[in-house]
Amino acid sequence: MHADLHLHTNFSDGTYSPEELAAQAARNRLHAIALTDHDTVEGCARARVACEAAGIEFITGTELTAEQDDNELHILGYFIDVENPRFRVEIGRFQAVRQNRIREMVSRLNAVNVPISAQEVFDLANCHSPGRPHVARALVKAGFCSSLDEAFERFLKKHRPAWVPKFKMSAADAIELIHQAGGVAVMAHPGLNRTDEVIPGMAEAGLDGLECFHTKHSTSVTEHYLGLAERFKLLVTGGSDCHGLNKGKPLIGTIKLPYEYVERLKHRAARNRAALSPAACSS
Ligand code: AMP
Ligand code: ZN
Ligand code: FE
Ligand code: FE
Repeated sequence: MHADLHLHTNFSDGTYSPEELAAQAARNRLHAIALTDHDTVEGCARARVACEAAGIEFITGTELTAEQDDNELHILGYFIDVENPRFRVEIGRFQAVRQNRIREMVSRLNAVNVPISAQEVFDLANCHSPGRPHVARALVKAGFCSSLDEAFERFLKKHRPAWVPKFKMSAADAIELIHQAGGVAVMAHPGLNRTDEVIPGMAEAGLDGLECFHTKHSTSVTEHYLGLAERFKLLVTGGSDCHGLNKGKPLIGTIKLPYEYVERLKHRAARNRAALSPAACSS
C-alpha cells in the first residue's frame, strides 16, 4: 500500500480539479493521498468525496509559506481541522497577501510596458490563492511570453522587473498555527531549500516531520534527510508535489510512500490533538 502526501489542485497553482486528482490517484493505484494546496484547504472537501468514491483514503492538508533566517521554507500541515477559527482567519490573511502581491506584480509589469490586468490573472487563476505561476500563465495566454519558464526568467524571478517579495510568517508560527488546528507540521522538500542548519531549531519548535521522499530529491539527498529525521526524531513523509500539467508531465505516481509512514503520521495527529483537548489541560 502506497501514498502520495504532496499534491496540488486548481484551488492553488495545480491544474487538476480535486476530482481529476482523485482519478489520477486511482489510476496510479495509490491507497492514500493528501491535498496540500498553497495557503488553502478549500479543495479538500471535494477531494475527500471523490477519493471516498474511488476507495482512496483522503488526508486534509495544506502547504504554508514561511521563513527562517531569511530562507523561504514550505511547511506542510496534515490532518488540520478546517473549521478551526484561527486557522481560517490566518489563511484568509495569507490569501489576501497573495492577491495584493498579484496586483503589485501586474503594476510592475505595466511599468515595463506589459499591459496585462490583475483581473486577467484573477480570472485565469479562479481561486483564492493565486501565485506567480498564474501570472506566468496569463503572460503566455496574452502572448507576451512563449512559455512559463520564459515568463519566470524575464519577469517573475527574484531580481527581475515584476518580482515582488512575499510576506511570510516565521516557521515557528507556521508550526504553531498547524498544531493549534489539530494538525501535524512537516518541512516540505528540505533538499530544495538546502538549509539544514534551521532543522534543529524547527525540531525544537515542535516540527513533527521531514519530507524525505520528494520528486526532486536524488537517492543520496533522500538518504541524507532520512538520517536527519532519525537524528532529530522527526517523522518521515513523502510526496510528488504534482501540479498537474502545469510543469510538464504530471508527477503523481512518481513517489510511492509506503503506507507505514502514513500510520505513524496518523498516530502523531492523534497525539497532537489529545494534547490540545480540555481533558489534557485539566489533568
Ligand atoms: P509564489 O508562491 O507565488 O512565489 O510561486 C511559487 C511557485 O512558482 C512554485 O510552485 C514554483 O515551483 C513556481 N515556479 C518557480 N519558478 C518557476 C519556473 N521557472 N517555471 C515554472 N514555475 C516556477
Ligand atoms: Zn505550487
Ligand atoms: Fe513547495
Ligand atoms: Fe508543493
